[in-house]
Amino acid sequence: MDKIILKEGCVALSGNDFAQSEHDAEWVDLRLSWQRLGDEKWQRAVRAQELLNFHKAHKYCGYCGGKMKESSEISVKCSECGREIWPQLSPAMVVLVTRNNGDEALLVHAANFKHPDVHALVAGFVETGESLEQCVAREVKEETSIEVEKIKYVGSQSWPFPGQMMVGFTAEYKSGEIRLSDGELTSAGWFTRTNHPPLPTPPSLSRHIIDLWLQKKL
Ligand SMILES: [Zn+2]
Repeated sequence: MDKIILKEGCVALSGNDFAQSEHDAEWVDLRLSWQRLGDEKWQRAVRAQELLNFHKAHKYCGYCGGKMKESSEISVKCSECGREIWPQLSPAMVVLVTRNNGDEALLVHAANFKHPDVHALVAGFVETGESLEQCVAREVKEETSIEVEKIKYVGSQSWPFPGQMMVGFTAEYKSGEIRLSDGELTSAGWFTRTNHPPLPTPPSLSRHIIDLWLQKKL
């Protein structure tokens, strides 16, 4: 098995493969490295980054303060009370909301997006005690004032920035006018397949679902 070297959100590459020493490495942002590594290798880099995040954040036991020791490749164990901990994921959802028989999609720009024009799907973290579907309906309503129905699962993606499990949905417009209420979004609108703003780059699940919509594959 080849080695994967990671540092500060970047992965060491040599050409389109993992560099085997820092010596001749080109440091590439892990998100962008997908373009060079492809699905299978990027997935391995993502897993490695998740495990690094996990070990960094679990040096001490949250129950008794004891030192944690590696227990297996994917778990640590407290040297005092013996509790074993595995990496925990934060579920988050993205949703493609459509209207007019699927011809128009709701795309949004959040204040924290790096690119000033990119529009993506409504997204948000699942809150304690709610289902994924409830999260979809709540986030769309909170961020845009739109009510949705017919929420359907599309797919999921591990997203280690950090510890997220992205779960993708589609939903249909039910009622309401777009109003940006909670301050997270700076722009939102209904767009068609032939007239839409710049989209997020692959391999995000948001882009994957938008691509399925653009290709009429949903
Ligand atoms: Zn402990």
